[in-house]
Amino acid sequence: MRATMMDFPLTLAHILERAGRLFPESEIVSRLPDGSLHRHRYADFHRRAGALAGALAALGLSRGDRVATLMWNHHAHLEAYFAVPCAGGVLHTLNLRLPPEEIAWIANHAGDRFLIVDDVLLPIADRMRGQVRFEKVIVVPLAGSAVPAPCLNYEELLAARPPFEPPALGEEDPAGMCYTSGTTGRPKGVVYSHRSLVLHALASALPDVMGIANADAVCPVVPMFHVNAWGLPFSATLVGAKFAFPGPHLDPVRLLDLYEAERVTLTAGVPTIWAGILQALDREPARWKLSPGMRMVVGGAAAPESMIRAFDRHGLRVIHGWGMTETSPVAAVNYQKRGPASSDPDEHYALRAKQGLPLPFVEIRAMTPGGEAPWDGATMGELEVRGPWIAGGYHDPGDEAAQWSADGWFRTGDVVTIDARGYIKITDRIKDLVKSGGEWVSSVDLENALVGHPGVADAAVIAVPDVKWGERPLAIVVPKAGEEVTEAALREFLAPRFARFQLPDGFVFVPGLPRTSTGKVLKATLRDEYRSWKGGSGDA
Ligand code: AMP
Repeated sequence: MRATMMDFPLTLAHILERAGRLFPESEIVSRLPDGSLHRHRYADFHRRAGALAGALAALGLSRGDRVATLMWNHHAHLEAYFAVPCAGGVLHTLNLRLPPEEIAWIANHAGDRFLIVDDVLLPIADRMRGQVRFEKVIVVPLAGSAVPAPCLNYEELLAARPPFEPPALGEEDPAGMCYTSGTTGRPKGVVYSHRSLVLHALASALPDVMGIANADAVCPVVPMFHVNAWGLPFSATLVGAKFAFPGPHLDPVRLLDLYEAERVTLTAGVPTIWAGILQALDREPARWKLSPGMRMVVGGAAAPESMIRAFDRHGLRVIHGWGMTETSPVAAVNYQKRGPASSDPDEHYALRAKQGLPLPFVEIRAMTPGGEAPWDGATMGELEVRGPWIAGGYHDPGDEAAQWSADGWFRTGDVVTIDARGYIKITDRIKDLVKSGGEWVSSVDLENALVGHPGVADAAVIAVPDVKWGERPLAIVVPKAGEEVTEAALREFLAPRFARFQLPDGFVFVPGLPRTSTGKVLKATLRDEYRSWKGGSGDA
């Protein structure tokens, strides 16, 4: 017996062709640096992506060559997302928020040949000069700036419309690469294949994942330089959805204006973005007429329960998801599955604040030193995952030590519980756990509870050394502007929800927390700063 199906490769070329053929009318709206809105349709996107692929081939792009981008979220970046892999190259999105010398290190490590850069970001490219050598630099004149020699003008390259002979792509061919955010240690490169990106796009468009439909208007706030904007450029194009790209304008008011003007139904970003949006909505609840039930995918850091509740009050639906650069990134998403549902609102929100259920084809387990943790919602273990869009190695094999188990599972470094119904709850990064007198204290639980206090804007909990207990939790709290919060009030607020040993020993008040360019709190920096903390509550 043999299967008699065609051997048909899963490639991004199919998604691009389908988009041009079936959805030529779908819109792509981008906010430009001057604040105006630029409008294209998929027919333009398809034609221009083909022209860019032809231009790259004419410039000498060979199979597997890396093309770096230094760009905001907009139509031209979407063109590069498809043109580079469809020309046989590898799209390498550079994180423009990193220090230029770090970007240069990453570009050198990846071996990037060409760079496509927004004109408004040329000052960053200039600061990398001398540290990295791209053979060609292609400038997108987004703001209409003159393109300095010897750079090439993106629009002129496309206008020349060089003929393009698409290469025969295999589904295992490399298509994209991203670097981890490297909160500790240097960043590591992950290379995605056509197949992994296609399967990830298919699975993340499913109704219980992001539920992306042709009728949706999708606004990726998560940058296209951060793990492929969680795959939205691929999954939304796959179904022919409308795009509303924010360009460089990520402030809450501009985003809310865009949501309203373009009738956005699905948006995605890290919790810090939503905290700002929530404050704007709370300040002026009647100002924006948003699509009722607009879905907001939140990931990259934990979505606090209080945030999910607050958006519900505005008629907006938070969808909590979990992932990593190494998992393409979407690996788990929270939705209410069939089965006994609690009518108790507290239980409902406690469930929605979990990171959710694994996507189809993603397998999970939580490992303890004694073996696999039971799915009891209480036993903590390190989350390990495997699946077709989970990395099986790094670009640099030298980075791989200890990251994969002997039987091939990827060790995430996240500590979780998994409950009897399969919902994952992240309690910490392994290196951020607080171990007090032999008991684990979850910093994430304390942080989520603290930001639920009406006077608290942001909070981080870290371990500080303690002679008696080994480590004790210390809360670093950012009060909301104009609010008075005291240590006593916070203690009283937390006390009913935590065991005594879990409560922080101290509360330090600061004006802001150090964060990575992708919104994660730099706990290593805080641990260094407060290593010898001996009491005192800091500045309010
Ligand atoms: P990155 O590779 O930069 O996207 O970072 C991945 C890490 O972000 C994960 O290993 C988690 O520690 C953290 N993370 C991502 N999503 C969530 C979430 N929903 N809740 C808590 N932590 C998250």
